[in-house]
Amino acid sequence: MKLKESKLLSSINGIAHGFSDKYLGDSASQVAAMLNMKGITLLKQIHSDNVVLLREPATETGRTEGDALVTDIKGYGIAVATADCVPILLASNDARIAAAVHAGWRGTLKEIIVNTLRVINEQYGIDPGNLKAAIGPSIGSCCYEVGEEVGSLFSEKYADSSEYLLKKGYSKYILDLKTANKLLLSREGVHDIEVLDTCTKCSENFYSYRGDGNGTGRQLSVIGLTR
Ligand SMILES: [Zn+2]
Repeated sequence: MKLKESKLLSSINGIAHGFSDKYLGDSASQVAAMLNMKGITLLKQIHSDNVVLLREPATETGRTEGDALVTDIKGYGIAVATADCVPILLASNDARIAAAVHAGWRGTLKEIIVNTLRVINEQYGIDPGNLKAAIGPSIGSCCYEVGEEVGSLFSEKYADSSEYLLKKGYSKYILDLKTANKLLLSREGVHDIEVLDTCTKCSENFYSYRGDGNGTGRQLSVIGLTR
């Protein structure tokens, strides 16, 4: 079994990362071993804009509530668990910090990615221009239809929403959450962004909330510092 990788993040020395599929699922210990990490920390994800700093080695998972983790600790991974929601992994070019972000439509609208960039800047003095970002396997615009109640939240908030929100018929929209997050990253000054084109619903190799229903599993998007 193999983890999916971002070429962009792989180009940074001192960073280990990977995206699991449904065969590895959310088996944190197995993924940690594959990435040579002493452990992987996860949050209790609540579709918020809460960013949590991991300052000490910890492998406890799912206790603290939040949807983004930032760390400068070496040897340990941080991760988000997703089925269709957008996982975003970030690292600074100097491999001083890494971050993992979970953005469904709620988190995207709350701009959790922007909040993460703000925390990284405030806590570590690192500008968005010195970060690389990878947007991982998540539901594509091919498969993500939402109702008026969700679509209108984006169209009312963003002047550029037509770049990722397409009206379909009378009261439906096609929402491209990967592009919505990519635009937020660019708006804040992150220039190096890779979007993995895997759609979790189209691909048989990934769990999909839309495709498999409520009880479906989760895959992990993991990142950490190695040195
Ligand atoms: Zn699809």
